[in-house]
Amino acid sequence: MPAPPCASCHASRAALRRPRSGQALCGACFCAAFEAEVLHTVLAGRLLPPGAVVAVGASGGKDSTVLAHVLRALTPRLGISLQLVAVDEGIGGYRDAALAAVRRQAARWELPLTVVAYEDLFGGWTMDAVARSTAGSGRSRSCCTFCGVLRRRALEEGARRVGATHIVTGHNADDMAETVLMNFLRGDAGRLARGGGLGSPGEGGALPRCRPLQFASQKEVVLYAHFRRLDYFSEECVYAPEAFRGHARDLLKRLEAARPSAVLDLVHSAERLALAPAARPPRPGACSRCGALASRALCQACVLLDGLNRGRPRLAIGKGRRGLDEEATPGTPGDPARVPTSKAIPTF
Ligand code: SF4
Repeated sequence: MPAPPCASCHASRAALRRPRSGQALCGACFCAAFEAEVLHTVLAGRLLPPGAVVAVGASGGKDSTVLAHVLRALTPRLGISLQLVAVDEGIGGYRDAALAAVRRQAARWELPLTVVAYEDLFGGWTMDAVARSTAGSGRSRSCCTFCGVLRRRALEEGARRVGATHIVTGHNADDMAETVLMNFLRGDAGRLARGGGLGSPGEGGALPRCRPLQFASQKEVVLYAHFRRLDYFSEECVYAPEAFRGHARDLLKRLEAARPSAVLDLVHSAERLALAPAARPPRPGACSRCGALASRALCQACVLLDGLNRGRPRLAIGKGRRGLDEEATPGTPGDPARVPTSKAIPTF
């Protein structure tokens, strides 16, 4: 049976049905609609004012690739300028290939690219070294906890280096819904309250952050990348199979099969939680060591790095006494025999 005509232009044959609305569109009309929706998200949320210098967190993956491509197309309408900022976490066999994809994108789109590395920023710690230190005798299940905190800090640092006024990340609706589920499962009311909305306004001296793809489903991000023939890196991080997020993802898929609106429902429920006055966390202050945004005396990154430098990484993520018994791999930056130097304690 031939495909129906495109419901928008009526001139071409439809190439897809939009997963949520069921609307049959050709590739060109779908891409135009997708870009218009991102523009609406940015304008309605007043996320990026004219004149903003926007650091795009570029990982080489589909989400940040689509985000950079769409924002580049919207640059004249928004009156902003773009900088790509990539973070090298130091993950052998994974990040090098992803960074190669970011370099190709920067060259093709003629966008400035800055790469910041964990190893340089965090006293020699790479994610591979963190994984060895946190694994003990088994496989580390806490890599993503460390990586998420450190990457947030690294992206902030990279954005400051290029003079950015705003940071954008490629989180899509599925990512956001997974995060909401994880925070529910952990009973983390503070993160639930902070995680709603389209980003953070830049309290405590941090740069404002936003997620222009927050309402775009993962399926549509992939479709957009397909129809725009975008070159992106699609392999999974070597530490991803151990991540708790994978369980939230499986659960979300099952929820979505039973209730197709589950993803957006979760995203919107987080927004409503963020708006509830009783749920609002106290105003953050500054980390007493590095000056970054912190809700306690030390920011999360400094707490995690302290645990690593003392050879007790699991203490830093609240694993109690088990952490006291844990040995770091000798010779790694986490080896307790290694004398911490001033280089081991980053300042920004
Ligand atoms: Fe970092 Fe985890 Fe993502 Fe790998 S999967 S890049 S360790 S957050």
